[in-house]
Amino acid sequence: MTELLDQAGATPQTGSSRTHQLFIAGEWVDSCSGETFESLNPADRRDVVGRFQAGNAADVAMAVKAAEMALPRWKATPAPKRGEILYRFGQLMADHKERLSRAMTCEMGKVVAEARGDVQEGIDIAFLMAGEGRRMFGDTVPSELPDKWAMSIRQPIGIAGIITPWNFPMAIPCWKMMPALVTGNTVVFKPASDTPHCATLLVELMAEAGFPPGTVNLVTGGGAEVGDAIVESPDVQVISFTGHTSTGKRIWERAAKRLKRVSLELGGKNAVVVLRDADLDLATDGILWSAFGTTGQRCTACSRVIVERPVVEPLLEKLEARARKLRLGSGLDESTDVGPLINPAAVEKVGSYIDIGRTEGELVLGGGSATEGDLAHGNFFAPTIFSGVKPMDRIAQEEIFGPVLSVVPVDDYAAAVTAVNQVRYGLSSSVFTRDVNLAFRAMRDFETGIVYVNAGTTGAEVHLPFGGWKETGNGHREAGHAALDTFTEWKAIYVDFSGRLQRAQIDNQEPG
Ligand code: NDP
Repeated sequence: MTELLDQAGATPQTGSSRTHQLFIAGEWVDSCSGETFESLNPADRRDVVGRFQAGNAADVAMAVKAAEMALPRWKATPAPKRGEILYRFGQLMADHKERLSRAMTCEMGKVVAEARGDVQEGIDIAFLMAGEGRRMFGDTVPSELPDKWAMSIRQPIGIAGIITPWNFPMAIPCWKMMPALVTGNTVVFKPASDTPHCATLLVELMAEAGFPPGTVNLVTGGGAEVGDAIVESPDVQVISFTGHTSTGKRIWERAAKRLKRVSLELGGKNAVVVLRDADLDLATDGILWSAFGTTGQRCTACSRVIVERPVVEPLLEKLEARARKLRLGSGLDESTDVGPLINPAAVEKVGSYIDIGRTEGELVLGGGSATEGDLAHGNFFAPTIFSGVKPMDRIAQEEIFGPVLSVVPVDDYAAAVTAVNQVRYGLSSSVFTRDVNLAFRAMRDFETGIVYVNAGTTGAEVHLPFGGWKETGNGHREAGHAALDTFTEWKAIYVDFSGRLQRAQIDNQEPG
């Protein structure tokens, strides 16, 4: 195991074109396809992070079989004992935090301070869910009949298909796999093709932590091959997916034919509202961190600042001055503020929104890819700000997933609420104000799964539910104890110790 980690952490550039394998039934194996693909460092595409198996439907079938074989024993393992393995996994992640973080920066590009945060989220959810092994609360309630006991318990669903994006390549798989496993399900995990190394490192540690063979299976490869096969498999009873809204919709349609449980965490178009009484310096800090952190590639990234007109100019001045100073570069350099975008296609997509934005608002800063000096071989894009954007403009409506911020002036609080809510997504929102009444109104009025007061749109903690309204999802939540709902069936149990037949709703009614 440490060989992989040593490689990942030893040098700033991984420089290794080592070929990695799938993990099925506790063994590292090649794909049936005989094909591999490369993962590249987005800060320098000449740097090959590694080669990975291009898995296919036959690999998925083997992984599902392994998960099926492992299920009876894992299900029968007492939940506190399952939890102990999660604790060990969390501790291993903590022991290897720095190496995991640097490996993540090499493959995904986020600056290493943020990569450490990503790993920390994985550790936090492992420990939280390990504790669920001793909680996993159901209800014990009085019965309406005498000498009768009534309670509910959670039970595992079966095999969980876990399909994840590249932007939180360790946190998101952990958010999904930890609750799935502690509740007694087994897992087939397909990571994004841009970050297979991060997934491999995680699964290495899971094996070392003691998850029994077949409990966790890793199949790398394309969405159309591996993802489809997981979704279509009749033996995978629950799918937990994070990614684009369009991909999520397709998955849900296909899974619906088999009545599978499907949890979807999808796109966002998150807004910070700045009211006229706000602390503008604090708001500037929050907006910059939310808009340009992770190069705007967080599902909770702020891409709209909705501002009351009297403070548009002073806020814009502060934003522009600060954003202009942000340093682009390799995320391994601790002085870098903004790392690369994930791949050249992302640079192209963000660039296409700049063309749209020029017709809708005024370009204040940035507006193009950054290729000077050391940036030439990476997927860098300059932090970009548009002003004078209207709420229904495309750049204020569509998820760009890059370092592009639109400033949307509005007349008052009511107009701000309308603008916040007038999008197809509903993940995260925030308000900067010193007026406690307006703060409480915003908490009530914003149609998002997460609301921040006097903070940016990012920074969720793992013990509260995470997810969004509208086209950000389908009503499920990750993290917190809400995450257990995705991976468990409820069972209501009645025990009658009266020694006679007692009919609910009949024998306890007074004769009329
Ligand atoms: P994608 O939808 O492109 O991919 C997500 C995952 O789905 C990848 O593993 C991908 O595989 C796989 N996939 C692609 N096609 C299929 C298919 N037909 N069947 C099954 N699986 C498939 O999203 P990104 O990875 O680009 O992630 C960015 C998106 O994720 C953004 O929209 C962002 O907002 C959202 N997101 C939402 C979060 C939330 O909690 N709401 C959190 C984080 C991100 P492959 O990589 O091989 O194509």
